Amino acid sequence: MQNYYLKLIIFVLLSAYQFHIYAEPANEKYKTYKGDIIFFEISKKEYELGYKLNNISLLVLKKENKHYLVYGVPYHTAVGKHEILVKNTLSNKKFKFTVLEKDFNKQFIRIKKKYTSPSDEQIIRISKEKNIIGKYRNLWTNNKPDIKFIKPADGVVTGVFGTRRFYNGIEGNYHNGYDIAGRETDYVLAPSHGEVILVGDFFYNGKFVYINHGSGLKSIFLHLSKIHVKQGDTVSKGHVIGQIGSTGASTGPHLHWSVTLNQTYVNPELFLHY
Ligand SMILES: [Zn+2]
Repeated sequence: MQNYYLKLIIFVLLSAYQFHIYAEPANEKYKTYKGDIIFFEISKKEYELGYKLNNISLLVLKKENKHYLVYGVPYHTAVGKHEILVKNTLSNKKFKFTVLEKDFNKQFIRIKKKYTSPSDEQIIRISKEKNIIGKYRNLWTNNKPDIKFIKPADGVVTGVFGTRRFYNGIEGNYHNGYDIAGRETDYVLAPSHGEVILVGDFFYNGKFVYINHGSGLKSIFLHLSKIHVKQGDTVSKGHVIGQIGSTGASTGPHLHWSVTLNQTYVNPELFLHY
């Protein structure tokens, strides 16, 4: 009799263990870092219907006969297990993923004082410009982007996504883009097709070009010396949009390139490897 119970206990334990093993892969499949992009595999039907997360439409893509929901993981997502609840007109669905620890480097930058302690007048200007940019943040167009990007400029990479930045010794916002150092005359190219949604000359950005690649994927190019496109222009991959400069909060001629997906900054470098 004792033997029977022992076997039963072992059986139950083994079953639980096996269940655990078989239940895990779904969660283990999607391991990622802050600011990375996850390709959740979905059905054709789901692809056609699309999904929204907290009312923000998400990018869906087709690649080699498979369908994906493409999600940009916000930088401030904590390390650990997460799930997102997405919705379409027919159903709700949970997607699980794990954010892994990553050691982002630190960078110490000396910058003109007006960029760390702007005057009252400058604060008003900054706030106005933030509102203007903000209007385009949630812009959604149904066209599909080409996520196989080209490098928008030649030169040495002097800044990567996620670095903790200290301006004149004080920690500021993390670096949300990709920096390429170049000469003032160097051209900046559109890394993928899109529409120019805004150009301007702002306090922090300097001269900039903002491009909508479609389905919530956008790029912005800062600190330009010259802009060669205007609002409403359609650009193809490789189209000259401007020239490298050091306008706005910049310490020397370089291009700052940021990419947003589902209204969050993601690592631009990833798009150079798809
Ligand atoms: Zn930068």
